[in-house]
Amino acid sequence: MKLSSTERKIIENSIRDIKDFPKPGIIFKDISTLLNNKEAYGVLMNHLYQRYKEYNLDYIAGIDARGFIFGAALAQMLGLGFVPIRKKGKLPYTTISEKYALEYGVDEIEVHIDAFSEKENARVLLIDDLIATGGTANAAAKLVNQAGANCVEACFIIGLNFLEGQKNLKETTEVYSLIEVN
Ligand code: AMP
Repeated sequence: MKLSSTERKIIENSIRDIKDFPKPGIIFKDISTLLNNKEAYGVLMNHLYQRYKEYNLDYIAGIDARGFIFGAALAQMLGLGFVPIRKKGKLPYTTISEKYALEYGVDEIEVHIDAFSEKENARVLLIDDLIATGGTANAAAKLVNQAGANCVEACFIIGLNFLEGQKNLKETTEVYSLIEVN
């Protein structure tokens, strides 16, 4: 199920562009104005609920930190558990981790080793606010699979099409972005 053009406009218009944040040349997509707008936030969450209610999911996994906002709300709406995928060093129990390349250097994300253990081959939806290079989401999808679950789709509010992130991630999982930015 895709967004209607009216729904897309409401969501698109609620996202604020901040030029040169956090550094020159980046247009930062600020979703705090979407969360602040009850109509847009409602349209968004209702669309996610309608799309994913038939997916037979077992968990929603959200990427640190904005993926937690949408992921945790959606998990509650669907009656599912939520799993946080966090930046290195934040999770207290035994973790498995995955490194990924940044423009300069590497970063690492982690998940609790038993996060999906209640069900064998659990069907997991991964969620974040935005996909750019896809480094973070690719590492997260791999982590879900390494933890014994099955990442059936990765969902983003915004997909930056001028980067190769979505194309690369499609080798690991299905990809759905509500708003495509060219
Ligand atoms: P990437 O690993 O390059 O796909 O980067 C994705 C992560 O960085 C997501 O968690 C986003 O929240 C954040 N991010 C990257 N670029 C932007 C941007 N232009 N606006 C807002 N968030 C961004």
